[in-house]
Amino acid sequence: MTERLTRYVKDVEDYLKKTRHSSNGEILEHLQKKYADVSATTVHRITTRLVERSKLSLAPVAKGNVMRFDTSSEPHDHFLCSNCDMLRDVNVADGIRPILEQSIGDGCSISGNLVITGLCKKCTMELKI
Ligand SMILES: [Zn+2]
Ligand SMILES: [Zn+2]
Repeated sequence: MTERLTRYVKDVEDYLKKTRHSSNGEILEHLQKKYADVSATTVHRITTRLVERSKLSLAPVAKGNVMRFDTSSEPHDHFLCSNCDMLRDVNVADGIRPILEQSIGDGCSISGNLVITGLCKKCTMELKI
């Protein structure tokens, strides 16, 4: 990684450690608070390399098919708020999978991660008002 990129990598990693899931746009916005001259291309290069090095994986996309990164490379499930796009790591209990497979039927088995959509607490409250 070039000198110029290395300078930002730690900031990107620290930011992602806090948010756990972020898009290039969110990372750019965060970095620009500290380094006004950071470009979208730079952020794109950093996240691409972190993915290549398995330090980041791809999370379920945000609205508008925006790519989103995940700090956890371990297989895990997600809860996605369909209103505000909030993404949270969850682990769906193993016992639920056979029940889902039975509902899906036709001998299909669930092998990948699950994304469960709904409304987060904040949006549920706001939409009630
Ligand atoms: Zn929400
Ligand atoms: Zn995740």
